[in-house]
Amino acid sequence: MEGREGTCAGGAGRASGATQDWDGLESACNACTRCPLCATRSNVVFGAGRRDAKILLVGEAPGANEDAQGLPFVGKAGSFLDDMLKTIGLGRDKNVYITNIIKCRPPGNRDPLPSEREACLPWLRGQFALMRPKLTVCLGRISAAALIGEDFKITRDHGKWFEKNGSLFTAIFHPSALLRDPRRRPDTFVDLKDIQKRVTEIGNIE
Ligand code: SF4
Repeated sequence: MEGREGTCAGGAGRASGATQDWDGLESACNACTRCPLCATRSNVVFGAGRRDAKILLVGEAPGANEDAQGLPFVGKAGSFLDDMLKTIGLGRDKNVYITNIIKCRPPGNRDPLPSEREACLPWLRGQFALMRPKLTVCLGRISAAALIGEDFKITRDHGKWFEKNGSLFTAIFHPSALLRDPRRRPDTFVDLKDIQKRVTEIGNIE
C-alpha cells in the first residue's frame, strides 16, 4: 500500500459521529487523517444528494473518477445507478442521499482494509444520525457486510429486508458488478421494484 500511518499532513479531522450539523461533519471529514488513505486521495468523497432524504444509498468506496471529482458514483457506474434509480422514481437531487462506507479511494480500487473501514465508519454514523433514513440501500457486498451483517452474501441475500432500530435495510448488486455481468440485472430489477414498493409505503419522500 502506498500510504502509511502518519504520512498525512496535520492531525485534523477527528472522526466523530457526534458532530452536530451537516456542514460541520462534512468539513471535519474533508480534513480527516484517521487512516492511511488520506495520503493517496485527491479528494474526500463525503456524499451527495438530499441531506433531508428518507432514502440513503451506501456504496463501498470511491473509485478514480469519484476521487478526481470528490463526488460519489460518477462515471459509468454512477450513470448506470442514476438510470436504475430513475426507473423507480428516485434521483440523487430529488429524494435520495448517496455516500460510501469509505470516504477516500483505496489505491488501485482494492477492497478497503478492515482497519480503514473501522476508521471511517464514524463519518457514516454521523451522516446516519443527522439524516435518520427510513430506508437504506446497500450497494454491493462490502457495504452490506458493514451495515447489515458480516455474513451477508450478496448473491444469496440481495433484495432481503432487515430492520435495525426502526430503519429498514436492503442490498442490491453494486452498479459496477451489473455493468460487468448483465446476467444479474433481472434479479436487480426485481429488487428495485420491491424497493419502489417500500418507498411507496413510506409515503411522501420529496
Ligand atoms: S478513508 Fe475515512 S478514515 Fe480514512 S482518511 Fe479518508 S475519511 Fe478518514
